[in-house]
Parts: sequence; structure tokens; C-alpha cells
Amino acid sequence: MSNEFKIEYLKKLFKYNRIVYGALIAVALLSRGAGLTKSNFLLFYYSLTGLFFFAFDEIFISKRITGIEEGALKFPAILFKIRTYLFVIILSVGSIFSVLPHILFISVYFMCLYIIVQEILLCDIFNSYSNTVRVITVMGIASLILFFIHLRSEVEGVWFVMYVASILIVLIVTYVIYDMYSSTIKKMDDKYTKLYFQNTDLIAENDKLIEFREKVEKVNSEINYQKINLTKANDDLEKSNEESRSLIEVMKYFSASFDVEKNVHVMIDNIMKVKKAGAVGFYIDKGIYMNDSPYLDVISANDVSTTLLKQDLYDIYNAIKRRDSLEPLVLCDNYDFKYPYLTGGNICNAVAFPAYENENIYGVMVVTSSKYEFFLNGYSFYESSVMDFTSALISDRLYLKTEDMAKKDGLTKIFNRIYFNQFFPELKSEVTGERVSLTVAMMDIDHFKNVNDTYGHLAGDEVIKMVASIDDKYAKLYNGTAVRFGGEEFLLILKDMDIARANDILERMHEEIVQNTVEFEDLKIKVNVSMGLASYPETCESVDDVVDRADQALYYSKEHGRGRITIDGREGE
Ligand code: GH3
Ligand code: MG
Ligand code: MG
Repeated sequence: MSNEFKIEYLKKLFKYNRIVYGALIAVALLSRGAGLTKSNFLLFYYSLTGLFFFAFDEIFISKRITGIEEGALKFPAILFKIRTYLFVIILSVGSIFSVLPHILFISVYFMCLYIIVQEILLCDIFNSYSNTVRVITVMGIASLILFFIHLRSEVEGVWFVMYVASILIVLIVTYVIYDMYSSTIKKMDDKYTKLYFQNTDLIAENDKLIEFREKVEKVNSEINYQKINLTKANDDLEKSNEESRSLIEVMKYFSASFDVEKNVHVMIDNIMKVKKAGAVGFYIDKGIYMNDSPYLDVISANDVSTTLLKQDLYDIYNAIKRRDSLEPLVLCDNYDFKYPYLTGGNICNAVAFPAYENENIYGVMVVTSSKYEFFLNGYSFYESSVMDFTSALISDRLYLKTEDMAKKDGLTKIFNRIYFNQFFPELKSEVTGERVSLTVAMMDIDHFKNVNDTYGHLAGDEVIKMVASIDDKYAKLYNGTAVRFGGEEFLLILKDMDIARANDILERMHEEIVQNTVEFEDLKIKVNVSMGLASYPETCESVDDVVDRADQALYYSKEHGRGRITIDGREGE
């Protein structure tokens, strides 16, 4: 039997019990009021009994019926029985020790029966004992009570027959009610059992459904995961596409430009933009692209990183050169500084990428960021950038060399006559435009033919090289230009230089040439030179005349003892 049903039944039972207790009190009051009994004790006895059980049921039972399982009823089954039998005994004792009026007698008797029937029903609920035992118990108790009451009552004759008849009717009604109750219960039980099995089936079905749903959910989440992966892959692809496009753009720029330093700037600027780096610095050693000094370029989002990179790039380059590897060098990994470089700023990640040509490191690029896990996607973009730059550098250098070769003399490496013819007209217009002076010194090795004749042409070449290198040295010192003008004839062109200072310089240069000894094989060769000096506007009115006038002054030197300097217009001095 279902719990819900039992609870419903119990609640109803205790609801009607209230009426029974009320009726008991009412009958007692009526009997006394109508004068059926003169006993006040009897009135109180039954009234108090009714009140006591009313209170008992209300307090201990009615409110506690929430479930039938063990513990749910919070009231032991045995107490039900005790309560029931106590009620019967109290009522019976009342009737035994006092002479009851008919009406009270019948009421008491009916109530006893009612309570006992109740007990039977409760027994069924709690499954205490079998039906037969219950019926015998009820019959027994009913007969016993009847017997005791009869002993004490004034009942006789037709009344007695009526009592017996009523008792029999009560017993029959009780049995019928009980039987109906049982069959209802049985039917309900069957229905319940059926429902229970249906429910079990449903539960099984439900379990299957749940299992299926879980599977579907799992597949769904896998699909979602794949979708996320796919989106990520797509994003990565787009990113790497963007990176490739930017590399192509940079390559295009490289191919159109032979300016190595500009190329460095374009490349590191591209890295800053595409990777949103904190700072990028590039360092190139000297002599790599005919550069006399190392080259360094830094682009940074903040001044601190610029300072740090400028300060440490040289040391990082040396550290990377000392290693036996061409792999990138991690300087700082998520605030973990592996080397004492670039500290003190807000740098979280820093990697140095060696720039190398045929496994020879010629420079380094350092990329930094204040972002966590900045290099999570690897180094390929940076390495590609540096490699592209290196191939551009190789062709740039080739170009610069070719260009340089065309301008310069093969033996002495100073500018040749062809280049002189190109740049001198430009220089002349520059000088007139800027209204500055232009001083030209021409020199010729004295008796050079003898050198060739005495020591051979190779020795003569060494002498020419010596004079040219001194000429070049002074040109560089004073921002001028050295030119091999002819076989053993040289020019020193000085812009924005007055003749007096130029003369000082020439004197020192002359002295150095004279003092110098060319060692060739085991020969020691010394030479002298003759020089002529002219200057615009000091000695010549037209800038076009300055070379000719220097030549004339040189000629004067040759004519007047050689090994001397002649200033244009001051030949006699
Ligand atoms: P002077 O003092 O009058 O200048 O006498 P010189 O002997 O120097 O004059 P000249 O102009 O007659 O001689 C120049 C010589 O320089 C002629 C030529 O053979 C030689 N010469 C020119 N170019 C080279 C060169 O590249 N190498 C060598 N070894 N000799 C050269
Ligand atoms: Mg000569
Ligand atoms: Mg000559």
C-alpha cells in the first residue's frame, strides 16, 4: 500500500476521532443535564476522558503524520495500541464502577467498538498481526466489556435484547467495513504495484534516455571543442597569413633599396607592428656592409626599453658570438632573467636572434615584451625576418662593392679620375652656391721613373700605394677627398678650407711622405713629392680654374727643385 494512501487514511481517521471525543463529552453533558444520571463524577469522568484523548491525539499524533516508514511517523506503533486500549479500559472502568443510564451505556459501548475497529485498521497499516488474530481480539474485548457492563447495569428485558442486537450489528458492520477496506487496499495495492512496475519501466527508459542524452552531450562538447580548435586554427592561420604578407612587403622594400640601415629600420618597425612587441633592437658589427663603425637601431614603445637595449645590445652581441650556437638565445622568460641584461625595466620576455651569414654571426636582433607568454607561438617570424634581412644585406653589399669599385682605383683604393670627373662639377656648384672656399692640392712623385727603373714596377706600385694612403688619411682627417689623378699624380680636395690652413696640412703631409720608408722585399725605398696648391676664391676668381692652377703650381715646384710646395700666385715666395 502506498504511503500517500496510508497517510491520507490516518489523517482522516484522526479527524473523525475528534468528533467521537466531542460526542462523548456531549453525551455525558446531555445525560447529566437531562437528569438521566445524578452523578457529577460520571460527567467529569467522561468529559475529562474525551478531552484527554482529544489533546493526546492533537499533540502526539495528528501533527506528526508525515510518512509511514520507520522514523517518519515519529511515534512508535506500540504507543498507538497502548493509547487505544487505554481508552477502551478507561471507558469500560467508568461503566463498571458506576451505573450508567442507557444512553451513556450505549455511547460508551459504541465508542469502545469504534476505537477497537480503529486498532484493527491501524494494525493493518503497521502490519502488526494477521486478520484472524485481529477479529478474535476485537470479538473477545467486545464480549468481555459487554459482560462487565451487563453485570453493573440496570438493563433487562427488551433493552438487553436490543443491546445484544446492536452489538451484533456493530460487529457485522465492523467486519463489512474492514472487509471493504481490505479489498480497497488490495485493489489499490495491485494498482500501485502495476504502477510501480510501470514506473520501474519508465525509470529504466528514463535511465536509457539520460544515458543517451549524456552521450549526445559528450559528442556535442567534443564538437564544440573541435569548433574552438578550428576557430583557433583559423585565427592562427590568419595571423600567420598577415605575418607572411608583412614579410613579403618588407622583402619588396629590401629589393628596391640598397640602404642597409634603412632596411634594418623597416624590418624592426614591421616586427613592432605585426607582433606588437615592446621593443626591437638590431645591432650590426663594423665592416659588415663597408661600415666603419658598428650600427645600432632601436624602436620601442617606451624610453626605458630604448635605453636598456642601446646600453646592452653590444654585450648581448658578444655573448651570442661566444656561444657555439645559431639558435635564438632566451634572455628573459616570463620575468625569469637568464642573463644580467635588460633588467630594471618592465620587460617580461626577451629573446636575442643571431644574425648570421654562412654560420658567421655578424649581428643580433633583440625582441622584448612586457606581456606574459609573448613568444608562445614560437620564433619563426623573427628568424624569417632576420634571414630575409641577411639575404638583402648580401646583395646590398655586393651592390655597394661594385659601386665602390667603379668609383675607386684598383691599386690605391682611393677615388679614381672617372669618379673625379663625375663629382667635381657637382662640388663646384655646391661651393659657389654655399659661398665657401675650395682648395685643391696636386702632387706628383719626384723621379718616379727612376723608382720603376731601379726597383721594378711592383716596388713602384708599393710606393704609389704609400703616397695614396697618406693622401687618403689626410682627406679623411679634414673631411676632404683624395683622388688618384694620374699614374703617380694625386689630388687632395678640401672644401670650406682657406689656403693657409691647407698649406699647413700639406706641409705635414709632405713631411710624412718624406719620412716614410716603403719596404718591399728587402728593399727600403724613400721618395719625395712635389706639390702645387690653389684655392677659390683666394687665388683664383673662377672655381673652374682651381685644378689647372694647382697643376701650374705643381709644375712650378718641379721646375724649381722638386720636393716642395708651391702656392698658386705666390711662386716667387
Ligand atoms: P718627375 O719628377 O718629373 O715627375 O719625373 P718622373 O720620372 O716621375 O716623371 P714621368 O712622368 O716621366 O714618369 C712617370 C712614370 O710613372 C711613368 C710610368 O711608367 C710610371 N707609372 C705610371 N703609372 C704607374 C703605375 O701604376 N705603376 C708603376 N710602377 N709605374 C707607373
Ligand atoms: Mg713624377
Ligand atoms: Mg707625373
